[in-house]
Amino acid sequence: MKHALLFCALSVLFFFLIAAIPVNDKAVREKAAQIHKSILTIDTHCDTPMRLVRGNWDVGVYHDPKERKAGKIDLPRMKQGGLDAEFFAVFLGQGPRTPEDIQEVRKKADDIFNAIKQMCQKYSDTIELALNPDDAYRLEKEGKLACYIGMENGYPVGTDLDYVQRYFDMGARYITLCHTRNNDICDSSTDPKGPEFHGLSDFGEKVVAEMNRLGMIVDISHVSDETFYDVIKITKAPIMASHSDTRALCDNPRNLTDDMIKALAENGGVLQMCLLSGYVKKPKPNPEREAALEELWQKYGKWDEIKSDSVRNIVRKEYYAIREKYPEKRATVKDLVDHIDHVVQLVGIDYVGIGTDFDGGGGLADCNDVSEMGNITLELVRRGYSEDDIRKIWGGNFMRVFRRVQEVAKELNRK
Ligand SMILES: [Zn+2]
Repeated sequence: MKHALLFCALSVLFFFLIAAIPVNDKAVREKAAQIHKSILTIDTHCDTPMRLVRGNWDVGVYHDPKERKAGKIDLPRMKQGGLDAEFFAVFLGQGPRTPEDIQEVRKKADDIFNAIKQMCQKYSDTIELALNPDDAYRLEKEGKLACYIGMENGYPVGTDLDYVQRYFDMGARYITLCHTRNNDICDSSTDPKGPEFHGLSDFGEKVVAEMNRLGMIVDISHVSDETFYDVIKITKAPIMASHSDTRALCDNPRNLTDDMIKALAENGGVLQMCLLSGYVKKPKPNPEREAALEELWQKYGKWDEIKSDSVRNIVRKEYYAIREKYPEKRATVKDLVDHIDHVVQLVGIDYVGIGTDFDGGGGLADCNDVSEMGNITLELVRRGYSEDDIRKIWGGNFMRVFRRVQEVAKELNRK
């Protein structure tokens, strides 16, 4: 009898446990969705403008994310994913640094600025060019998306300081000092030739000072560790990494070490977590895929070495065929939030945000495009982050940096 009673009690308990799981999850999902909707959400880096300049692709039309040609961001999917503000990057792959090449890349930069502005004109009911922190909050109230501009790679600045102001006047609010190769400003974290200046060049120091004076955010994603510490030493304003992760969890030169994250926090800056799978989690060895890709790079050179558009199209086709033939296991939102947890444990909640790198390689197994942004919020809620914490991660921290950068510029101009 005693056993029967115990069995009964256990059965009832078991039933309630089972029943409680889906109910709980439903409640968590609802809570996450409500938070995601009510807060301002900002992504500090995407390379979608590359699709804008290429033409024959319409950012104002919904694209089925299952199709490769869909890209990661269009305006209807931005709305669907509850993303309020996006930094559209004027991205320039690093090339030779002769005056002729600089002139050519400046033309390309202008074309990209124009393409972004044309998007805002064509879809003025949906999206508007934003220049200051308040713009995003105002536009959110109006039910519109905010389009900020960042410049990925200071290459078009060349060695002419006036160009920093020129790009600021055209609407850029940050410059990523370099890309995958060294330029006239600084050393990159991934130049196969290694360091050229051991940090910032003399000209690069002037660029940082000029950005401080203008109220432009210095972006240290892609720079070498030495460059990072040089920037930290001389900047008068907080800085950011617009799309990088933590090296403690994924050993890649594009990610920040714990020591760098501590220095960044001390500077009052922010680390915007990148959704590029290889920076989130070290991929398992996939020798067939690597060999096929290596053969492709040997044949045509890497992306930034390919000059002609027609060759680029051929390489793109072959590249995607290889990716389909030898699929990789991509990192997940859980892996990404592990990086957020790490930064929070190291320096607190105030120094972390999101910078997807969508259309520049970003995309996780369960956050593959902008329509799935809510999955990050869901995981944060599951891990016990409060609404205030999540508001900071999704834009509050970045906006604090953005505002402070503008205040410092005012202070410097008063002197
Ligand atoms: Zn990048």
